[in-house]
Amino acid sequence: MKLRSMCGMAMIVMGLAPSASAQGPSGYEVHDGRRPQPVVMMPGTFSTQDQPGKPPSDAIVLFDGKDLSNWESVKGGDAPWKVVDGDIQNVPGSGDIQTRQQFGDVQLHVEWLEPQGTKGRSQERGNSGVFLQGLYEMQVLDNYKSETYADGMAGAIYGQYPPLVNACRPQGEWQIYDIIFHAAKLQDGKVVRPARVTAFFNGVLVQDDTDLLGPTRYQILATYPASLPDKGPLRLQDHTSPIGYRNIWVRSLSAEKPPPPIKPAGQYDYEKMHH
Ligand code: MG
Repeated sequence: MKLRSMCGMAMIVMGLAPSASAQGPSGYEVHDGRRPQPVVMMPGTFSTQDQPGKPPSDAIVLFDGKDLSNWESVKGGDAPWKVVDGDIQNVPGSGDIQTRQQFGDVQLHVEWLEPQGTKGRSQERGNSGVFLQGLYEMQVLDNYKSETYADGMAGAIYGQYPPLVNACRPQGEWQIYDIIFHAAKLQDGKVVRPARVTAFFNGVLVQDDTDLLGPTRYQILATYPASLPDKGPLRLQDHTSPIGYRNIWVRSLSAEKPPPPIKPAGQYDYEKMHH
């Protein structure tokens, strides 16, 4: 217990020292007027069933209804899927597609649709998937009044964590994933910090800061390899069921959060400095 709290103290001191030297002040006060102002951006708009929303101004737009120029086949070459009436449709059997650009920590927005008439049961019913960093599958499946194993449902981290609730909409309706992903940190073959996912499914929390066991595996307990790339593509799965996607964007996230204040309000109080 004692050792633990000492380690904690050491980590706090070590954590503050580098950012303090990099940013000038050696720790902020509450309401500190020296703190940098956040970057100004324009938020987007929400989607309706009829129309995709507008991405935020600082997003990297991966699909805006026009073409698949930001995507490629995982086998190499151009993406073999189609754009029909502003939406992506997979070509069943053509294989997964992935972004040409690679990402680490991201906020991801992606919308998907199970076409009317999707048939089959369990994993054969409208299966697709969103692979974060190309490694971790957030399952896409038609689970509206259709059962499968819990860690294989829509909103699940496939083979690891079921969604907190089943928030699936019926076939023919757009469904929305809003995901916050932090890449795993590995050092000298050890996991310093596992990959983490927070996810909203149709606006409902389904993964709450979930620590992932490792890259997605089928029927095998996931573990981390000795090393992983810092970045990877976003990948969409072709599981041979027809599936639609639209309005896909990411915002790259900084691994560093602003440090908390370490003193009460004092001489750098914003109101004192600016009025
Ligand atoms: Mg899948």
